[in-house]
Amino acid sequence: MSALATLQQVYGFEAFRPYQEEIVERVVAGHHTLLVMPTGGGKSLCYQLPALIREGVGIVISPLIALMQDQVSALTQLGVRAACLNSSLPLEAQREVISWAVKGHLQMLYVAPERFMTNDFQSLLRQIRPALFAVDEAHCISQWGHDFRPEYIQLSKLREQYPDIPCIAVTATADEPTQVEILERLQIPTTGRFVTGFDRPNIRYTVVLKKQAKQQLLDFIQSEHPDAAGIVYCFTRKKVEETAAWLQSEGFEALPYHAGLDSQIRARNQERFIKEEGLIVVATIAFGMGIDKPNVRFVAHMNVPKSLEAYYQETGRAGRDGLPADAWMVYSLGDIVQMRKLLETSDTNDKQRRVEQHKLSQLFGYCESVACRRQVLLNYFGQEGEGACGNCDTCLNPVARWNGTQAAQKVMSCIARTGQRFGAGHVIDVLVGKSSDKVSRFGHDKLPTFGVGEEFSATQWRAIIRQLVAGDYLSVDVIGYGGIKLTNACGPVLKGQEEVFFRQEQEAPRKKKRRHTPAVHYDAQPDDEALFQKLRQLRMELAKDQGVPPYVVFGDATLWAMVQQRPTDLMAFNGLSGVGQVKLERYGELFVGTIRMHEAG
Ligand code: ADP
Ligand code: ZN
Repeated sequence: MSALATLQQVYGFEAFRPYQEEIVERVVAGHHTLLVMPTGGGKSLCYQLPALIREGVGIVISPLIALMQDQVSALTQLGVRAACLNSSLPLEAQREVISWAVKGHLQMLYVAPERFMTNDFQSLLRQIRPALFAVDEAHCISQWGHDFRPEYIQLSKLREQYPDIPCIAVTATADEPTQVEILERLQIPTTGRFVTGFDRPNIRYTVVLKKQAKQQLLDFIQSEHPDAAGIVYCFTRKKVEETAAWLQSEGFEALPYHAGLDSQIRARNQERFIKEEGLIVVATIAFGMGIDKPNVRFVAHMNVPKSLEAYYQETGRAGRDGLPADAWMVYSLGDIVQMRKLLETSDTNDKQRRVEQHKLSQLFGYCESVACRRQVLLNYFGQEGEGACGNCDTCLNPVARWNGTQAAQKVMSCIARTGQRFGAGHVIDVLVGKSSDKVSRFGHDKLPTFGVGEEFSATQWRAIIRQLVAGDYLSVDVIGYGGIKLTNACGPVLKGQEEVFFRQEQEAPRKKKRRHTPAVHYDAQPDDEALFQKLRQLRMELAKDQGVPPYVVFGDATLWAMVQQRPTDLMAFNGLSGVGQVKLERYGELFVGTIRMHEAG
């Protein structure tokens, strides 16, 4: 069967996404390939389809047990004979999988890297015919990569043992040196390297100034995603607990997740997040690896992460299914100070510290940007030349820039005159001419800078100072009492050789309330949401019966297609994207029945 026919019949997808066809054909033809494609781009199809088309068993090496099981469930739902071998399976079940493989019953076999190199597995490989080797999360093979795993190094041997079996390495995150190392280790020719863009166009990026963070989070969830699954990242365990409790008290199902929790509770909360609908997990960064849930509708950051890489990885967990999703973050001067402090007091060497300081500054630059956020992100990852995206806060509510050179000079000289040892509050008091006790005690009301900043409110000065700290003009004495100091960057500004620009802070204009139904590009009916809920309920029941996550029964995109097209017979149902042969037979009647009942009112 041709690749396209298989795509349509097995997966029920009408057409290939960009790159998929080319990659599938290469691999079917036996060529080694490296594919770097962002999350949600459709990498799995690129090795699954060739495995179905080529003779033999497709062997997929995948580092995360939860992901393996997810993929196997999803394939089984499609009627593909897939299984996995990992340490979490009882021995009996492992033997069964091996016997299926030997008898030639399997089309795909998932295996963990550490198992792959064992003698047992190698001898199994000699008894079966591998259709291809797919190396998932291939960046783990590289010492340059951010998740290097020693057991991946061994995989180099595979290419020597099976020179003629095509090998396809896939990853969402690999910079140039990482890519080169993957190519070398797996002996993939440079002509076999495919790197698609980094962009995640369905994710809307928003950064807001922190005022009352929890209330802001609540407003965001209530107005944008009242009913959807999401992840909220907090910096500390305490904040995780507090935020989860608060969301619960506001009527949301929110579960905490952090390293301090009992491992069983952690596992259960993760499991519930995967298998239930509309749950919110409030977590430290410990949560996320091994979560492949495609319908996470938002990722919220209550504190800034430590770099744009981390931010992109964490926010990337939203919207894998390609439907609209949000990456939302609150940010404040306190965050900058906290992150800098953490770095100052960590016991890294100086070189590493400088690297991390630089990364932090780039992250703050992103937060303070008046330009399209997506452009800032893509430029950071080396992808230039894209226009403004139209789907981030600065595109949707453009922020003006103003020349704040004079204001910056006032702040800087005020800090210099008060001895570079006071915090922002005191500096602002002096600027606006407020005679507090402290001001008179230190005689700062006698200074020439006293009251020179009356043109701005304290809040405006706070914003100015924040941006000067974010831009590395000012530093906060994070070890001592939080006094603000000048950095070398102030010289040119004070001498009038360099201009400084600030964001024109504005009260966030209330965004037009967005329909939280992710169904885009069609005229929504008033009862769409109600029908969606019914279909989602049916999906949940079917999933529960089989012990699989709901999204392997049908993805949200397919449910929305049902809502939009309202097929009332199997013919029409078969035409939906995501309905393949096996799912049509297995679920068609049930879903069509629900739609008919709904239509009958
Ligand atoms: P990745 O592994 O790159 O993160 P996946 O392989 O999980 O991405 O695919 C992301 C989503 O896109 C899945 O829900 C998948 O079913 C869907 N998808 C992939 N290819 C197509 C296609 N050609 N048409 C429609 N949907 C697709
Ligand atoms: Zn934009």
